[in-house]
Amino acid sequence: MKRLHALPIRHKLMALLLASNLITMVAALVGFLVVEVRGHEKDARADLACLAATIDVNASVPVVFDDASGARGVLAALALKPEATAAALYRADGSLLAAYGGPVPESAPPLGTWVDGRRLMLAKAQMRGGGVVFVERSLPAWPVLARSYLGLVLFVWIPALLVGAALSSRLQAVISRPLLALAASVDDIARRGGYELTAAVRAEQPRGDEIGVLTRAFGQLLGQLQERDKAIASQRGTLETMVIDRTRDLVNLNRELQLAKEKAEESSRLKSEFLANMSHEIRTPMNGILGMTELVLDTPLSSEQQEYVSTVKGSADSLLSIINDILDFSKIEAGKLTLDSVSFSPRQTIAEMIRPLALRAHQKAVELLVDIDPAVPEEVVGDPGRLRQTLVNLVGNALKFTERGEVSLTVSAVESKADTVRLRFQVSDTGIGISKDKQQLIFAAFTQADGSTTRRYGGTGLGLAISRQLVRLMDGEIHLESEPGRGSCFSFTARFSAAPPASGAPQRDCGLEGAEVLVVDDNAANRRIVEKYLAQCGAVARLAPGADEALRMLAEGPRPAAVITDLLMPDRDGLSLVAALRENPAWRDLPVLVLSSASGPMDRRALLALSISRFLNKPVTPAELHRALRAALREPPPKPAAQAERLATPAHNESGETGRLLAAPSSYANEPDWGPGDEAAPGSGMPLVLVAEDNPVNLRVAQRLLEKRGYRVITAGDGQQALEKWEVTRPDLILMDLQMPVLDGLAATAEIRSRERTGGGHTPIVALTANAMIGDRERCLSSGMDGYVAKPIDMDKLLSAIEDALARHPPECFSAIPGLAV
Ligand code: ADP
Repeated sequence: MKRLHALPIRHKLMALLLASNLITMVAALVGFLVVEVRGHEKDARADLACLAATIDVNASVPVVFDDASGARGVLAALALKPEATAAALYRADGSLLAAYGGPVPESAPPLGTWVDGRRLMLAKAQMRGGGVVFVERSLPAWPVLARSYLGLVLFVWIPALLVGAALSSRLQAVISRPLLALAASVDDIARRGGYELTAAVRAEQPRGDEIGVLTRAFGQLLGQLQERDKAIASQRGTLETMVIDRTRDLVNLNRELQLAKEKAEESSRLKSEFLANMSHEIRTPMNGILGMTELVLDTPLSSEQQEYVSTVKGSADSLLSIINDILDFSKIEAGKLTLDSVSFSPRQTIAEMIRPLALRAHQKAVELLVDIDPAVPEEVVGDPGRLRQTLVNLVGNALKFTERGEVSLTVSAVESKADTVRLRFQVSDTGIGISKDKQQLIFAAFTQADGSTTRRYGGTGLGLAISRQLVRLMDGEIHLESEPGRGSCFSFTARFSAAPPASGAPQRDCGLEGAEVLVVDDNAANRRIVEKYLAQCGAVARLAPGADEALRMLAEGPRPAAVITDLLMPDRDGLSLVAALRENPAWRDLPVLVLSSASGPMDRRALLALSISRFLNKPVTPAELHRALRAALREPPPKPAAQAERLATPAHNESGETGRLLAAPSSYANEPDWGPGDEAAPGSGMPLVLVAEDNPVNLRVAQRLLEKRGYRVITAGDGQQALEKWEVTRPDLILMDLQMPVLDGLAATAEIRSRERTGGGHTPIVALTANAMIGDRERCLSSGMDGYVAKPIDMDKLLSAIEDALARHPPECFSAIPGLAV
């Protein structure tokens, strides 16, 4: 079969034809043979019956007369019939009368016709004579018949086959030739490529059969492939041109980018250099300003001079801190900032950095909590200055963005090895929080969560960028979790080297073991911190969340060794608790320590009368608390008279530590109230100027400068307030800052102008702003303002802008404007 498959189609067709021819012939031959044999047998029977009848008639006389020789003579006639091989005649009694040919039965056989091998036999009763006739003849043999047929077949079939083969060879060429040509064409296409059919295929006459369909379809297919190839080739050409073009563009772009990058790097380096130089150059005179201001503040001054110079110092301080930030940032950018490596006490560093912040916390009535884990080592080696800077920035921010609630700084040791220690610092607040989309941005330099012109909080946006770099230098990472409206939590870890062990065993014996102390504070976190600090010394804390609970616990429980109470509590404050204690003779001499973030103004006499042992500013360090408590337990509660002396100067206890005994309120308590709305007493007939400015110092400066020139001044802290005050007082002129919270200067001006359009009048508005970029003046004037003065204030320019505006829009009634000729 396999070989058949491998044959060329021409041979296959030929083989098919011959095979079918042969099968037909053989089938015909067999059919003929069968029919012939049947016909011969039938003829033989008829012939035998005829012979028997002839012998019967001719032999009736010899049989009747028992004439054997006559009978033999009749039978001898059979010699003319070679097929008759034997015959016999029997008498009526069945005995043999005469025989002819081959062996015959001895007595008359049963009547009938039968076949024995290739012999046909017949026995018949005589019609007359009463004997029996027996005849036998041979039947023609198969092979003989077959041979005669085979000869015939060979004689007829072979020529017929040859003729058929010749014909089929011609016929099959009709089918196989186009197929072969097609196959050759496909082979040719496969080998050479291209889509041209060979000449043999093309020369074929178009035909209507399946081969014609196949050839046509193949031709069409080739045509389509050729079209497609052409399209692809043309597209490839276009693509190649495009790729060449793009590559050229990209190469050019890359070159430009490289140049731009080099330029940018160069200008960034120059910028950093410039910033560093400038910051230095500015810092030097700043130091002079600050130092000289301090010197002036130490000389006898009138209260007004004192106030002005303090203001100068405050402004110079903030300027210096901004310059410091910029200097740090440029140093970090230039990769020039390196950390110190000195031995320092984290607790001491935190106590020092937190103190000035505690003042700010108190001013805002925000709780400032510090919780340092006892596992934090007393000494580590690192850069205390940079750690302080990072913490001041985080805690400072937390205070800046928290209006109520608490700000806490927690320090813990997260990893302690033989030579290194990793500390974790966490600053949490309950302030405004930071939205998710701003949380990563604020770590970028000069970025603030609120970048609008109506932002409430000042700042450069550099603090966190610097902190993050500093933390990285300390081998840590800063993280932020925050939810707007709920607060923020900044945390970072920093690695320090372990300090060499101090000589001598650490002093663990505090002298407070077993002392029971009642701790009263409305803030749960604060209570826990004090409890922990007490436990570090073996003292036992009983905690009361308020003054009333404390009094109840005192009445019901055993007398404690001392009471530590918070000063500011919601229902009943610390002083009222101490007053209640002192009223009861049993508790009159109970040592009381007052903890407060309120180091501000207090009624000294009230404090005196209450015999308070120690007054500690929050947050306290464990050492401060231990020392103060130890001293309070050792000495009897101070008598009012004794306290009076101590009040004059800050007290120093046995170790010279900073815990103060009713320390004199710091100078900030006497600071003027910068709040908006402190209106000047109206001078007679002078124009009334409304100054809208959100920075209290600038507000004060502008107010005082104008008042000195005789103007009456009212103030507003933001655009909204300015609008409200304008509505009520209708000032003669407004000095309007541009960047203010709630409503900025431009929006406030637009609102005033729109109200004037319906209500009439025109209040001149002069912009007073630090935005001194190109286009700002035009923006102010086009929004309805009448003048523009850039900060810092140049008095001459300000006055001439005011006078100009008033000359163009004179107030309805005023008697005199200094320097203005009406
Ligand atoms: P600055 O405070 O000088 O603007 P920072 O880099 O310290 O710059 O802070 C960037 C910004 O991150 C702040 O302007 C403020 O929008 C946001 N931010 C920082 N700390 C807090 C905080 N504790 N709560 C809410 N916002 C904060």
